[in-house]
Amino acid sequence: MRYYVLDRGDDLSVELTEQFHKLAGEQGFELDAKSPEIVVSIGGDGTMLHAFHTFIDRIPSIAFVGIHTGHLGFYADWKADEIPELISLMSGQGGPGTPKPRIVNYPLIEVEITKKSGKASYICLNEFTLKSVDGTIVAQVDINDRLFEMFRGDGICVSTPSGSTAYNKSLGGAMVHPSIEALQLSEIASINNRVYRTMGSSLVLPKHHHCDIYSRKEQNLLITIDHINLHMNDLVSVRCHVARQKISFVRYRPFPFWERVRNAFLD
Ligand code: NAP
Ligand code: MN
Repeated sequence: MRYYVLDRGDDLSVELTEQFHKLAGEQGFELDAKSPEIVVSIGGDGTMLHAFHTFIDRIPSIAFVGIHTGHLGFYADWKADEIPELISLMSGQGGPGTPKPRIVNYPLIEVEITKKSGKASYICLNEFTLKSVDGTIVAQVDINDRLFEMFRGDGICVSTPSGSTAYNKSLGGAMVHPSIEALQLSEIASINNRVYRTMGSSLVLPKHHHCDIYSRKEQNLLITIDHINLHMNDLVSVRCHVARQKISFVRYRPFPFWERVRNAFLD
């Protein structure tokens, strides 16, 4: 088994990484920074975002596992003191009655950015946002190549189902189960008047739909792809759709999404 570990860099996470390497070595796992089969993220959900983007070119051939060193995370379901148990399950030594590991796949979104100076495409695990650096943004939103609305306000957020519990939730968006292949478009403080009128509600688009966001004035924009910030002053448009590829997580024990939601926000 070829594996790699990424951690948040704090003392506890670094210490756990060392423990992981020691136990993995005893099982004959091979540390491989180039083509790992399993990538372990130790830290928080933000660490998983880093892990995802570090291996963005190899997503279809990797299964991710998350260990949290702070609060329970959406992408990190193992506790700091459970590494020995995790390693034994990873090596297939879970003992009699242990359920077989399952691979769960979560949808991602692809954003294709067109600037006056060229094109680029990105994959998001949580969300894409378009925000203003100075003043409000003005943008036209088309759905499936037809005009939908003219947006003015602080910005627009397009989230994946697993990202729906992050920024999207703060914007009043719905939480979407990751078995639903969709993207969600949410508004960030829209201004509504006679000229600019937006729907107000978040929109959930299925995977065979796409939306285009056109920059409608000269503006300095901030684009975020998960934790990554990109500044742009020559944006033409952004096309968003559910990506063809998905992220895989390996589950050695069940932890239903709605239980994570309850745990994170209510319990
Ligand atoms: P951060 O500022 O540490 O993240 C903000 C919080 O979002 C952290 O508590 C983080 O958990 C949590 N989080 C990340 N992904 C999540 C998910 N899928 N479901 C529920 N909570 C999640 O920055 P970061 O760690 O680099 O994460 C970047 C993310 O922050 C962005 O993708 C965006 O979703 C989120 N964000 C939220 C707001 C907002 O709610 N107003 C504003 C900007 C960005 P950990 O502490 O475990 O990392
Ligand atoms: Mn974080």
